Parts: sequence; structure tokens; C-alpha cells
Amino acid sequence: MTIDEKLGQMVQAERKTVDKGDIAKYFLGSVLSGGGSAPGDGSPSAWADMTDAMHAEAKTTRLGIPLLYGSDAVHGHNNVAGATIFPHQIGLGCANDPALVTEIARAVAEEVAATGVDWTFAPLVGPARDPRWGRTYETFGEDPVLTSRLGAAAIKGFQSKVMACAKHFAGDGLTSMSTSSVDAGLLDRGDVKLDDALFRKLAIEPYKEAIAANVASIMVSFNSVRGEKMHASKRFVTDVLKRELGFQGIVISDWSGLRELPGTYYEQVVASVNAGIDVTMDAENHQWREFLSTAKTAVEKGAISQARVDDAVRRVLTVKCERGAFEKGPVNRKELARIGSQEHRDLARRAARASFVLLTNDGNTLPLASTQRVHVSGSGANSLARQMGGWTIDWQGGEGKKLTGTTITAGLGEHLAKDPASADVELVVISEAPYAEWFGDRQTLDIAPDDVKALDAASATKRPVIAVILSGRPLAFRPHVQKAKVWIAAWLFGSEGGAIADVLYGVAPINGRLAHAWPKDGDLLDRRKSVAEPWNAEALLFPVGFGVPLAARAK
Ligand code: BGC
Ligand code: BGC
Repeated sequence: MTIDEKLGQMVQAERKTVDKGDIAKYFLGSVLSGGGSAPGDGSPSAWADMTDAMHAEAKTTRLGIPLLYGSDAVHGHNNVAGATIFPHQIGLGCANDPALVTEIARAVAEEVAATGVDWTFAPLVGPARDPRWGRTYETFGEDPVLTSRLGAAAIKGFQSKVMACAKHFAGDGLTSMSTSSVDAGLLDRGDVKLDDALFRKLAIEPYKEAIAANVASIMVSFNSVRGEKMHASKRFVTDVLKRELGFQGIVISDWSGLRELPGTYYEQVVASVNAGIDVTMDAENHQWREFLSTAKTAVEKGAISQARVDDAVRRVLTVKCERGAFEKGPVNRKELARIGSQEHRDLARRAARASFVLLTNDGNTLPLASTQRVHVSGSGANSLARQMGGWTIDWQGGEGKKLTGTTITAGLGEHLAKDPASADVELVVISEAPYAEWFGDRQTLDIAPDDVKALDAASATKRPVIAVILSGRPLAFRPHVQKAKVWIAAWLFGSEGGAIADVLYGVAPINGRLAHAWPKDGDLLDRRKSVAEPWNAEALLFPVGFGVPLAARAK
């Protein structure tokens, strides 16, 4: 291979920045869709047309090395219109059922593969320890033993059809906490202050299981460890991940992660490639072209060795061989019917039910009798965006684009009261406005004022109140706890709103258990000196493992 052919395998461009002819001209080895980046009308067939064209173009090159197309299918094939949206990982951690996680990941992989996409940037395998972090919902929990086990289960399911990516190596959810760091935006992409022994136990451990599960790729994290940026850390990326843990697959950078390193762009390229990053996702604008020319200069000057380039390219090509990329043909259009299929939506509904955690059930309010009629209020009652959260059609989520699914209100169907006066029960759906990385970091965990008003109005009716919380993190509802008899944590459960009716009416049991501790107040979080410390019981409303089991109603 020529140096240009090799370097093409070492860069990943974003689809919007790839003009027709670029793949062949620059020997691009992979292309991604960033969060919310979709071709044409975003439909499955538009995706298939795009990936087919890109794969075909790669085949026209001298060596015909196949292209890998990647996308963040983190709770379903969530950049694609009409895809089934499963619960975010935070809910699956509460279900804590590896077989279910594998089944979901297999279904997601079917939808991903159906559109010709080869690679999902999931799962997130590390634990999160500070719910103010806006990516808390992308994690399975706060215990690395649980996140490792469920991470491996997800990898197994994904890799039945596509490549998985364990992310973000390492320490993404363990950055230092303090209200001031939230202020400065230092929680996401922040610094981990733990010593090496704790860092290994909490942050590195999950990658052992991911590697044992034969994960094809691992993504390097934006964060640093005691000041050392992961994207420049030869110590962690090469010495620990590749040598000590024996990872043979592709180490990919995070989105323009190298550009957060000190120095000139040349220095950033040299530092990150020499740290051991095999594929650089330099995605913004046409920056990948700058990567190619800069890396080439660095190789010519000897700042990046031929051996380093060969290690990277060998890994990419080995994964392509092992994962069947050379044999892959164009999309079979019949397979597009898998996207959002009834079978997958049934699975998503079952998964949603399994992810719910019953926090209180005063006076055995639940299960409701089938004759009890519900009046619904609150910001999440009629909002697919709020039950799905970030990384859904748009990067940060939100109401802007067309979402497919059933809202909680629609899912209640015949159980809905004709008007507030005839209702037997008040259901208040409290929620957070959708967010993803960075934009989701918060100072406090308070409930939004409009939802407090809805709770007050519901409790003033003197009817029993059921509060369902749609959130990517525990919300501090202690000041309002008396206003509802029932509190349910329903997380970001996805497209199947009927799941709520199922558990309220005892069609299905509630068995979820908290995988993240539930603090009383956001500001109590600062009292913990380190993310490694166990929670002070006084700071908690509910500990990890908490959940009131509720049986289904006998048929
Ligand atoms: C992309 C995301 C990416 C982010 C990083 C966004 O524009 O859509 O996929 O993670 O930038 O900053
Ligand atoms: C995120 C990753 C994601 C990547 C591609 C980054 O900003 O941190 O989790 O895989 O963008 O969208």
C-alpha cells in the first residue's frame, strides 16, 4: 500500500463533508454520521442509497478496500426516521438483565445492518458517578461490575450483525465533581482526579470484559486523568489498552478529540497518532483532509513512524476482514422492513417495562383497577421527544423533527378519563427537556417549575396522584414527595408509550432496581470528596439497588 492508501484508512470523515469522488480520491477507510446527520429525508431507503453509493465508490479504488460506515446507534438506530427507539442505557441498567440487553442489541444491529451501516458507536461501558453529568443516561449505572457485564452483553448482541465500539476510554463518567466544574463546563470532557489504582478499578475494568467479548473497536475519551489528556496518552492507549489488555481491534478517536490537545495541529496529529489512535475521527468541516496532509508530512519527517502507521492500518484491515466487510454486498431492500418492525417495537415495550423503578406506592395505589380512569398532565405526557431523550433523530434530541412512536397519553387509550372531573386518578408526567453531551451538564437536579405546578394542581384535586419521571438522571423530588402517592422512575424509555399503561394497570410487573443512587438534592453532591467514595446515606433518598417490586395483576 502507498502511504496515501494507508493514511486513508486512518481517518474518518463525516458524511456531510464527503463529496462525490472523495472516497476514491483520498482512499477513505470509513465515514460516519454525526448525531442527527442523515441523508435526504432521513428514511431507511435514503440511508441505504447513501451507504450503497459510498461502499461502491470504495470498491473502485486500486485495492478495492471496503469502506466502513459508522453511526451512533445508542438506543436503537436513532439517526434513522422510523427506527425503533429502545430505553437509553440508564434504564437497561435498572432492568439489569444481560440476556435482554443482548436481545435489544441484536434487534438494533438488524436495523443498523438493514441500512448498510457497518458500525455502531455503542455501548458506553464505563460507570457514571455524578448525575449532573449530561451523559449519565448513556451509562448503565454507577457500578463498574454492572456496567462491564451489561456492556459485554450489548457487544455480543451488536456484533451478531455489525461492529460495536466500547466507549469512552477511559474515565468519561468519573470526572471531578464540584458545582464550579459544572459552571466551567468541566464535567463533560473534564479531568479525573483518581489515583491509578482507583482509576483502574473504576474506569479500565469494563474494557477487559469488552475485549473478552471481542469488541471490534474502542473509542478514546475526551477527558483527561490528572491532567493527562486521553487523546495523547501513550501510557493508557498503547501501554495499557493495546499491550497490557491485549486489545487487537481499532482504537478510534472521539469527534475531533485531537483538536483539544495543546499545540499546533501538526503537534496534535503527532501526539494522538503516537499515543496509539488508529483511526482519527476528524469530522468537522473538511478537517479530515488536513489530517491526511498533516499526517503525511509527519510520516515524511519521521515524527510518526512507519511502524505506527502499519500497526494502525493492520488493525483496520484485520477488523474489515474478520467482520466480513470484503464479502458484503449492496443493501437488500427487503431488509428495510426490519426498521421499526412490530417485533422490535414489542421488544422495546417489554424492555421499557423492565426498566421502570417503582420508588413509592403509598396505600397500594398500584396496580390500578381496569375501571379507574386517568387524567394526565405534566410536560412529558404527550411528548415523544421527552420519553426518548437525546441522541434521537437530532444530536441533542428535541421536538423539532418527526419522531415515530406512541406517547404515554396515546398509550393509555381507553383508560383516559373523558374530562378532569370524571377522573379517578391523576397522572403527572414530569420530564426533562432533551439533551446530550455537553449541553446536558446541570448545576442542580430540580424539577422544572411547570411540572411542579402540574403536581400542585393534581394534588389539589384530592384524587390519588401518580408521578412518572422521564429523565436522564435522578431528579430531586424530595420537596414534592408528599404530593404523589406513587413515584415511578421511567428514565428515557423510548418509542413505546404503552409500557406505562401496562405497568399502571398491572398487565406487567415492575421489577427495576436503581443502578444509580438517587440523591436528595443536587447540592448535596458536592459533599462527596471523590467519585470513588461511597455515598453518604444521609445524602440519598434511595440507594443503588432500591426498587419496590410490584407483581402483575393475576389474570
Ligand atoms: C455531532 C455529534 C458530535 C458533536 C461533537 C456534533 O455536531 O453531530 O455527533 O458528537 O458534534 O461536538
Ligand atoms: C461523542 C461520541 C460519539 C461521536 C460521534 C462524540 O462527540 O462523544 O460518543 O460517538 O461524537 O457522533
